[in-house]
Amino acid sequence: MTTSTACPRCPMCCGKFSYLRSGPHVGVAIDGPEYETIAMIGTNCCLPSIEDVVYANWLCDNYGMDTISAGNIIAFAIECYERGIIGPEDTGGLELRYGDPECVFKLLELMAKREGIGDVLARGVRYAARKFGKGAEKFAMEVKGLEQSAYDVRAAPAMGLAYATADIGAHHNRAWAITYDIEVGRDKYTRDKAEKVIYLQHVRPLFDCLGCCRLQWVETGLSLEYYAKVFEAATGVKMSVEELLKGSERIFNLTRAINARRGLTGREDRLPDRAFEEPVPNGVVKGFKLDKEKFNELLKAYYELRGWDPETGLPTRAKLEELGLKDVADALGL
Ligand code: SF4
Repeated sequence: MTTSTACPRCPMCCGKFSYLRSGPHVGVAIDGPEYETIAMIGTNCCLPSIEDVVYANWLCDNYGMDTISAGNIIAFAIECYERGIIGPEDTGGLELRYGDPECVFKLLELMAKREGIGDVLARGVRYAARKFGKGAEKFAMEVKGLEQSAYDVRAAPAMGLAYATADIGAHHNRAWAITYDIEVGRDKYTRDKAEKVIYLQHVRPLFDCLGCCRLQWVETGLSLEYYAKVFEAATGVKMSVEELLKGSERIFNLTRAINARRGLTGREDRLPDRAFEEPVPNGVVKGFKLDKEKFNELLKAYYELRGWDPETGLPTRAKLEELGLKDVADALGL
């Protein structure tokens, strides 16, 4: 059973409340499941029913786990098991199979309790891949150590660029660019895609800075001018949309600088090899995979448009000073 839910006074009611009325997990109630959970815990692990997804979602909520990362890691573990990279001796005798709800529920429990293989998986897919060895890294879908969320980039170069350049890794939240890929052409690696990713990387985090929901802008096209007006009404500070976006750019550059000081440079602006090597097996984008050379050119264009060093992927002194971040340039020794 599902009903819609909403934040106070929002007419969009984008939330869903689900309640299991029958089956082995009768009585379980969750806020969701939403797209990412259904895709990553459901489809990615081949769970056979939405009730199984609801229960897995409920487990994650109660264990305090993210459903995207959890689904990504479990599917990775199952693939490693199926490929013989790990075996029963690594899983405590647990047989890992796609489409087996009990296997997914058990792995969630083991991860939460940090028991057996769960202790390895709980450290993230990058760590688990290195621990498993035997070529497991090839099957770890992550960027900067963050498990990739549920947008396949093989037919979406802009979305791939968004994943590769996001400060936190392969997350859809910083720039949901796949709609632009669909709009202008999934096979295009044109400069406007880099421009679009940069624009989105400034707009979307802006809503986080303002402390408001972005879905009215995303779903109904509500003008950004409205947000500037609300910001002024709430704070008394008058800022144009351009000034707000400049602030967002400043934060993006500052985050990049902080990452750099922690050793995270342009070398980490990469995608899993599979995005370039394994074509989509079926569906409307059958046969698509990313072209590495063209993707690297797109990344170069992105650095150039951002005013970053094309070799290191770091902000240049000129860019940081333009943003009023001279002290950051000094701290980076630029
Ligand atoms: S659109 Fe935003 S404010 Fe409205 S219900 Fe959804 S999350 Fe809440």
